[in-house]
Amino acid sequence: MKVLKFGGTSVGTPESLNNVRAIVESQVERCVITVSALGGITDRLIAAADMAAAGGDSWVEIYTEICQRHSKVCDAVVSPDKVGEAWESVKSLLDELETILKAINLLGEITERTRDLVVSYGERMSCIIVTAMIPGAELAHSLDFIRTRSHFGKNVLDSETTAELIASRFDELKDAKTVIVPGFIARNGEGRISNLGRGGSDYTAAILAAELDAHVLEIWTDVDGFMTADPRIVGDAHVIDSLSFVEAMELCNFGAKVVYPPTIYPVFHKNIPIIIKNTFNPEAAGTLIGDVKESAGTITTLGVSSIADTRLIVLRGADSELYGRMINTLTRNGIETLLPDGKESCGVRGNDAERAKALLDEEFAGESATATISISEHLATIALIGRGGSNGNTVEQMAKALNSAGIPIAQAPQQVSEGSVACMIAAGDLKEALQTIHSNFINTTTNR
Ligand code: ADP
Ligand code: ASP
Ligand code: MG
Repeated sequence: MKVLKFGGTSVGTPESLNNVRAIVESQVERCVITVSALGGITDRLIAAADMAAAGGDSWVEIYTEICQRHSKVCDAVVSPDKVGEAWESVKSLLDELETILKAINLLGEITERTRDLVVSYGERMSCIIVTAMIPGAELAHSLDFIRTRSHFGKNVLDSETTAELIASRFDELKDAKTVIVPGFIARNGEGRISNLGRGGSDYTAAILAAELDAHVLEIWTDVDGFMTADPRIVGDAHVIDSLSFVEAMELCNFGAKVVYPPTIYPVFHKNIPIIIKNTFNPEAAGTLIGDVKESAGTITTLGVSSIADTRLIVLRGADSELYGRMINTLTRNGIETLLPDGKESCGVRGNDAERAKALLDEEFAGESATATISISEHLATIALIGRGGSNGNTVEQMAKALNSAGIPIAQAPQQVSEGSVACMIAAGDLKEALQTIHSNFINTTTNR
């Protein structure tokens, strides 16, 4: 069996949904299909919730737009004999959503828990439409088997409970040829609705592929494959034929949005290949992510990726003991450090910055005369991912390329793994830096 995942871009319009149906109907084997919310809906749900909390009635406009969009898509793709029942189910969710938005509006505030509830409606509605659209398809609800737990205030997968629940739910479905599963959404240990994080439908699909022993995970999106850079930023980015799991993981951890980073782990452990495919161009071969062997002796730069919002934390007056304590404090509290210089500074992701500063201020409160923590303005981290062993020159060449383009460096380039190098620059220079690094390093050796 195989698992196919269709992202918001693939389930956004009647035309793209018709492509999805054709792709699913062309499958000969048993398939589990994971679907995201209709493209853009998660953002609109967040906007509606925030507007409701802010007071006034501007949220009503967004809510109405969400209703119209689902009604139009449902009418266009579901056959006449099934559309009434499908719309009834979607409509009852929309009614529930309206009640929740009214309650948020009345209270004038929103908690994280309520926000999670509001965003869940996207996938809960799209999976009804997709199930009704595909003849013979059965719905298996991820709210029944994807479980999260809280880890430093973030939702993480509760792998053991999830594995048990998937096994028993899919045992009941063993005769179904096509099973539809909403991506992204989950429940926590208390039974409340949670999720796997933005972009998390990829992860849902990977969890299912691993637990159900799929022979492949196909991620269907709106580009021809994993590319050498984000094609919206670097015009001459091109598709990479194949990547190892580790290479893909590095590109994704450093921000390549095409795959949500945690997705790679479950399938990597079971050696299940991922293929990135284009819903709008199914004939294109796509990118294979798997047990790819590198050709001996060659050093190849594969792609560039970037994290748009990072900050640099500097510990003034640091010695090696104080510096060690800084890194320890952050990692002990679940904060990922980026490009530690080993002397006085390290980067963190923008959404960790406030908590990182507070933790470090507390840690060094007694030593404020000698050690002070400062935090930079918004920076971007840019990474050049390669394979084939270290190329010491890349560190220097990256600095040289940025210098020649007149782009100041905020944290010097350093090797982040055997073949990969990263550095930090001002957020405003990101586009130019990506284009510069891409044109200097990504060459024809990328395609194998
Ligand atoms: P989906 O809705 O299918 O999950 P996403 O928007 O999450 O789609 O991911 C696909 C998008 O990722 C592409 O449209 C592309 O703009 C962007 N992207 C960023 N980096 C890359 C990359 N290295 N290769 C391909 N696409 C990338
Ligand atoms: N709908 C969710 C999001 O927009 C999950 C996903 O699309 O993967 O983040
Ligand atoms: Mg995505």
